[in-house]
Amino acid sequence: MSSRARRWAVVPAAGRGERFGGSSPKQYVTLDGRPMLSWTLSALLAEPSIAGVMVAIAQSDRRWYRLAESKDPRVGCCLGGASRAESVALALQALGPLASGEDWVLVHDAARPCLAREDLRALLRAIERDPVGGLLAHPASDTLKRADEEGRAEETLPREGIWRAQTPQAFRYGLLCRSLALCRERGRMVTDEASAVEAMGLRPLLVRGRGDNLKVTSREDLSMAEAVLRARSRR
Ligand code: C5P
Repeated sequence: MSSRARRWAVVPAAGRGERFGGSSPKQYVTLDGRPMLSWTLSALLAEPSIAGVMVAIAQSDRRWYRLAESKDPRVGCCLGGASRAESVALALQALGPLASGEDWVLVHDAARPCLAREDLRALLRAIERDPVGGLLAHPASDTLKRADEEGRAEETLPREGIWRAQTPQAFRYGLLCRSLALCRERGRMVTDEASAVEAMGLRPLLVRGRGDNLKVTSREDLSMAEAVLRARSRR
């Protein structure tokens, strides 16, 4: 493996936040005075070893150019697609002229604004010499139930060895592009990059991250994310 491999980040931010509701797409909702996407990008830009960040935005996005981080020389943007997977694929394509197959790409959701610096560093350290790559994840602590069609608990699932996948997810550029292309060919929908790499018969490394690297999906998550960010800025 080349020791000159660079690190890039890809941020899918082209979602319309339909599950979230409201007039503003969720990546632009304000958290402690700043848009969510600004928190997410500044967490990545705080890591000096990341050479550049490619952000996939929606065609209708008029707010992107008003975001301070959009003017950062390490930040570029491209149009996203109809699904998260398509937005990631388009951002990887936009990185094509810059990235080599051996470079690392960290895919990180715009909707995870609470990425801690120590988690990002831990992920980068853990994957550095790994042949596959890996992702931040957190062991499941709740008892897991499978629901029937009536919303009744049908079964209690064993939670040993169950982890909740987070982002960033870091893989070599070449492997990631090949894995996503294979899933597309097979018509397989993937909700994260690790599952595409798993479909190649590989086992991504699970790197334990903080439980508060939460994904903002519902309005309830907003106050939790805001509390996490406020507590950190007081440290
Ligand atoms: O909707 P959900 O929270 O699962 O989306 C995860 C991430 O993927 C978000 O950052 C969202 O902006 C992004 N996304 C995208 N393009 C889409 C749909 C979602 O970039 N078409």
